[in-house]
Amino acid sequence: MKITENSALSLGKMLQSREISVIELLTEYLKETEAKKDLNAFITICRDESLKRANIIQKNIDDKVLSSPLAGVPMAVKDNICTKNILTSCASKMLSDFKPPYSATAVERLEKAGAVLIGKTNMDEFAMGGSTESSYYGSVKNPKDTKKVSGGSSGGTAAAVASNQCAYGLGSDTGGSVRQPASFCGITGLMPTYGSVSRYGLIAYASSLDRIGVMGKNMSDCAAVLSEIYGSDKKDMTCSVAKKTDFTSFCDLGIRGMKIGIPRNFFSEQTDAFVGKSVLQGARELEKSGAELYEFELPLTDYYLPTYYITACAEASSNLSRYDGIKYGFCQSGDELEQMYVKTRTEGFGLEVKRRIMLGTYVLSSGYYEDYYKKALKVRRLIKDSFDDAFKKYDLLLTPTAPTTAYNIGENRNDPLKMYQGDIYTVAASLSGIPAASIPCGKNQEGMPIGMQLMAPQLREDVIVRVGCAYEKITGGSVDE
Ligand code: GLN
Repeated sequence: MKITENSALSLGKMLQSREISVIELLTEYLKETEAKKDLNAFITICRDESLKRANIIQKNIDDKVLSSPLAGVPMAVKDNICTKNILTSCASKMLSDFKPPYSATAVERLEKAGAVLIGKTNMDEFAMGGSTESSYYGSVKNPKDTKKVSGGSSGGTAAAVASNQCAYGLGSDTGGSVRQPASFCGITGLMPTYGSVSRYGLIAYASSLDRIGVMGKNMSDCAAVLSEIYGSDKKDMTCSVAKKTDFTSFCDLGIRGMKIGIPRNFFSEQTDAFVGKSVLQGARELEKSGAELYEFELPLTDYYLPTYYITACAEASSNLSRYDGIKYGFCQSGDELEQMYVKTRTEGFGLEVKRRIMLGTYVLSSGYYEDYYKKALKVRRLIKDSFDDAFKKYDLLLTPTAPTTAYNIGENRNDPLKMYQGDIYTVAASLSGIPAASIPCGKNQEGMPIGMQLMAPQLREDVIVRVGCAYEKITGGSVDE
């Protein structure tokens, strides 16, 4: 087994016990990034910066001033999360020369715990998409089958973790972007409760939905990373209630007596038969470990996608109005001010981003605001209420993460509606503000990974960690071959 195949937590232990040095470990990972360049998982490799940092971290470990379980372990960060003086492009031409003067709170907290940033990962432009095909830097290939997409929008982080180019990574999840690529690449992805991890330094797509999430080889790793970034931050007004928690302490609690709800309508005919079967099989494994399974019907599923896309596009059209060629980012000059705006935005944004700005502007325009945007807000509340009701009966909800496994690159690119359909099972947790994760749950006939989604009530990431870890024990851990 190669050293880079280990989980982040076991690497942390090896570093603390001096079995390996931070530089040696980093060098191994840098070799992987070089060898696996063709996957296109990274936009930037921070070679020099990471080597410098590795020396500092080693000294801190030697001096016993740094004993965090992740100290010295290399991480990757999605390119819409700000990193001081390091390109943060959002995979867009618009920000292709943007080096932020500050780092996101989540990055800062991880660096304080000794993380070594190995690089910034590829993604769908401005996190809009589910396949990484809308990236200005080209699509990411799935390490399990390079003809297939890695999922999106955090497809770069997912592919980097799955192909051992980093030990763990950060992604962002607005409607499924941590969970779906995790499912497509066979890793674990955890989206925390809205507002429990600071969004400061996460470049906005749809502010009422955006969250930073964790991607790792298994649930224990995700729990360890989440423990570092979780909790209130004065710099983000929507991040105030969550208290710092050590989520790894829930890993071994088991699931005896836990009530797991299985919404039958998440296994409809649009779900691949094989995906549905594997996820139900996974649920039965949990039952053998002491959980109780209950099938039930969740209402309003037909409204998930329209509600999500109206809300997300409306917020995106407003958030992206700041890219006008004046303040920062790409600028294409014109003879007059308006011409400059038009040229800058026409050339700076890709097709999918423009489509969403148009859609968002439309649903917010006078006359349509009441019919679309306001209605979507009301339905969003009903969806959230339906989850609150379900959680009165069940501790956790279990569903497929996505209706299919990874599809071929190019297959859905010209069919945006088909692409949006792929988000059907992830957007509800996003709209409801609840935490959700995707854990690997078998493979299909072609050997492509399948993801099982776990959803818990707000601020109950502990339940997800318990179930995820229990499942890994049953299946022998999810550190992939
Ligand atoms: N695929 C969804 C979208 O395109 C989700 C993206 C995300 O979570 N950032 O909006």
